Amino acid sequence: MAEFDTVLIRYGELTTKGKNRKDFIRCLDRNIRRILSDYPDLTFQRNYDRFYIRLNGTNPDAVTEKLRKVFGISSFSLTERVDTDIDVITARCLEIAKQSGKHTFKMISRRHDKSFPMNSDAINRHVAGEILRNTDMKVDVHHPELELRVEVHTYDTYLMSEKIPGAGGYPTGINGKVLLMLSGGIDSPVAAYELMKRGLDVEAIHFASPPYTSENARQKVLDLASMMSEYNQGRMKVHMVEFTKLQLEIYKAAGDPYAVTLMRRMMVRLAQACAEANGCLAIATGESLGQVASQTLESIACINSVISIPVLRPLICMDKVEIIDLSRKIGTYETSILPYEDCCTIFDPKNPVTKPTNKKAESYEKLFDYSSMIEEALETAELITVTPPEQEDYL
Ligand code: ATP
Ligand code: MG
Repeated sequence: MAEFDTVLIRYGELTTKGKNRKDFIRCLDRNIRRILSDYPDLTFQRNYDRFYIRLNGTNPDAVTEKLRKVFGISSFSLTERVDTDIDVITARCLEIAKQSGKHTFKMISRRHDKSFPMNSDAINRHVAGEILRNTDMKVDVHHPELELRVEVHTYDTYLMSEKIPGAGGYPTGINGKVLLMLSGGIDSPVAAYELMKRGLDVEAIHFASPPYTSENARQKVLDLASMMSEYNQGRMKVHMVEFTKLQLEIYKAAGDPYAVTLMRRMMVRLAQACAEANGCLAIATGESLGQVASQTLESIACINSVISIPVLRPLICMDKVEIIDLSRKIGTYETSILPYEDCCTIFDPKNPVTKPTNKKAESYEKLFDYSSMIEEALETAELITVTPPEQEDYL
């Protein structure tokens, strides 16, 4: 096979134009370098529609694994660089074809530098002719066993066979920063993925109620954040907020069935304050319409009415099955289903109201001084920055 020395990256969302496109490329450039910062031998180069990484001896598999998780990449290929000279190109393609052990092939050439004297069709015919004359291989344009791609630029030409799909979307961070309410469940990590894919830098806030919630539950949330940080330029900030005092007061004041409504109203108040203090223009949740009592439209309205910051809900119209599928795909499912109690499950009331009203919620909230408790919870919040889990070493 080819001796890979360069990774060629194709940008995603190609409809992006003008200044936006420049910002897109610059942001993607930064994210790619950051995620690969552990590999000191790599060198980088970019142009209008391609980004190149010279491996300089680095294991291509390690780089491939990292690149699969970078948003803003539509696809990429491991390539071999040769000089832009039709004889060199042809000789090397012939060698690759011979070594492949395949029976059928197809040439896919692209001429980026129009001053190169042969157009892509002529390159295809020239190289294919040489392979047909010197091997037993046949051309199959519909289902070839080997696709030989040739990209001709002014000085360098890239030979490759495989096109690896990228993660798509926008480079993380290009669309600003959002504060995600992260629980230990299935939904919120999936919401994180969707937000990051849209180019948002995601910070998390988690509410824990020790000693009612355990150290295991806390670690589970940090583990989920750590997994998601791989898509978030290799790090994620988590604000750990202690919710015990507020939660106990809520139950004293409201009891079943308004407890959940009040709890959520406190959570979003805390999240809004934390978002504002940390430069996040919106908060986000893993809510999905109708999933539980607190996610009916009436509940959402009643909870939302106590804050003014925009709330992003990327999963709002998704089925649980779709969410679970995504959760498996991004690798968080097995951790999410670990049975550690969340603050909501401990105090889970038996008959939560499905159509709460503002008036009633307000009347319960008058019974205790929640503002000072919110202030205290924010002051004592712990900020933890997580990085991706240790991975097997490819080197
Ligand atoms: P599940 O997958 O079981 O639905 P969930 O985490 O989505 O888990 P819900 O009760 O459906 O749990 O909560 C709805 C949303 O509220 C979550 O997606 C999350 O954004 C937020 N949330 C719930 N509990 C917490 C918590 N302890 N800390 C931070 N955010 C939370
Ligand atoms: Mg949920």
